[in-house]
Amino acid sequence: MANVVSVSPKVSNYTRDLIGEIIAKNPGEPEFHQAATEVYESLDLVMERRPEYRSAKIPERVAEPERLIMFRVSWQDDQGRFQVNRGCRIEMNSAIGPYKGGLRFHPSVNLGILKFLAFEQVFKNSLTTLPMGGGKGGSDFDPKGKSDHEVMRFCQSFMNELFRHIGPDTDVPAGDIGVGGREIGFLFGQYKKLRNEFTGVLTGKGLNWGGSLIRPEATGYGAVYFAAEMLGTRGESLSGKTCLVSGSGNVAQYTVEKLLQLGAKPVTLSDSNGYIYDEAGIDSEKLKFMMDLKNVRRGRIKDYADRFKGVVFTPIDPRLDYNPLWNHKAHCAFPSATQNEISGKDAQNLLRNGVYVVSEGANMPTTLDGVRLFLDAKILYGPGKAANAGGVATSGLEMSQNSMRLSWTREEVDARLHGIMKAIHKSCVEASSAFGTAGNYVNGANIAGFLKVADAMMDQGLV
Ligand code: NDP
Repeated sequence: MANVVSVSPKVSNYTRDLIGEIIAKNPGEPEFHQAATEVYESLDLVMERRPEYRSAKIPERVAEPERLIMFRVSWQDDQGRFQVNRGCRIEMNSAIGPYKGGLRFHPSVNLGILKFLAFEQVFKNSLTTLPMGGGKGGSDFDPKGKSDHEVMRFCQSFMNELFRHIGPDTDVPAGDIGVGGREIGFLFGQYKKLRNEFTGVLTGKGLNWGGSLIRPEATGYGAVYFAAEMLGTRGESLSGKTCLVSGSGNVAQYTVEKLLQLGAKPVTLSDSNGYIYDEAGIDSEKLKFMMDLKNVRRGRIKDYADRFKGVVFTPIDPRLDYNPLWNHKAHCAFPSATQNEISGKDAQNLLRNGVYVVSEGANMPTTLDGVRLFLDAKILYGPGKAANAGGVATSGLEMSQNSMRLSWTREEVDARLHGIMKAIHKSCVEASSAFGTAGNYVNGANIAGFLKVADAMMDQGLV
């Protein structure tokens, strides 16, 4: 659900007008308005000190995609019927490297959602310390309930257009919601056929055809490493902490796995039908069941409650104005499903229930009023563009391995991922302190991510 944007009264007139112009120029795209408002509110502090960015119109240029490609995807279902979906790729910013960012296949996908994701990706990729620009793409195609053959035919048709716009030095897509190993395989196969070349053009590839160890784990592991770093600033660790996790896809699964390795106790998981609360804790045996359920049998999270004693399944109730998953006693929350899954009311519930660490595995899972409540409460709040950057960082490591035509061990990639998450945490801490808002990871991530891109754009002239 989209959030109606209200600009903070604390920002300058310059920033207020800038946000107003962006909203007016992109009508009907509430998720993009929300992401832009959050970023430009943080950058208010930067624009005062660096007026050269204003005269070079860097903020306006950063909000405008370098290129937007929209195309028809026609395919045939198993009954022989013709189907038509819309495909899109937003090449947002290439100041510091080739466009990089996932593809999302979900019926909710529209231009505003992809633009918010592409915009966030620019700052996130900059934070990773690797040379990657920002992009995002996808389709309103729903892989759920489709046969493998239908998914293959759709992916092939999608790539029949996308292949002419991407390449290992131009634009390197990856997975996101609805795009996992199966879809990346079909997309890569078709790209290879059309181009007649084997290159590192997609990341998240299978291990025996150019993929990197730890890439599937990276986003979830990274979000947990980021939480551990934030807790470290208070001399604490994740050991013994009760954790609420949403989603049950790629990010949620490996968030739970890393939490277990670090001695924490995850108690919730969800999908679009509802959520499970397992008071005893999701252990590694239950996690294994859940991964098989979701990745192999492609079942629903309710099956988890049917399988294990003492687990409560609560279906989604559209009449509620809050999500009961966020209304349990806990120390930490790892939203890992989708955007705007934590409303202002959910944020209040989390704070009331004792949650003081929020590490966002999903992209923009918290509405603006929720973000402001977390910041006012001074909890350890790691926004998605910092906390979930481990996924794209490891995609960057996959690109490096492809270029060098070698593959690193599991331990080596995990150590690099861990090092990158620590570096991102440090950049956020330093940037937020340098601009007088110590402890505010939202400002830290937005400012540190922006500065690198802005300086590169200044160096490269008006392009
Ligand atoms: P998956 O498709 O693997 O899993 C998504 C999970 O979220 C599923 O459990 C899905 O339930 C649930 N979900 C999705 N949309 C909704 C919705 N509208 N309402 C309720 N539940 C929903 O995706 P990922 O785990 O890859 O991605 C999750 C989040 O993490 C996204 O925000 C994504 O952008 C972000 N992210 C992912 C990265 C990655 O490397 N994969 C990298 C960085 C961020 P159901 O199956 O019922 O739809």
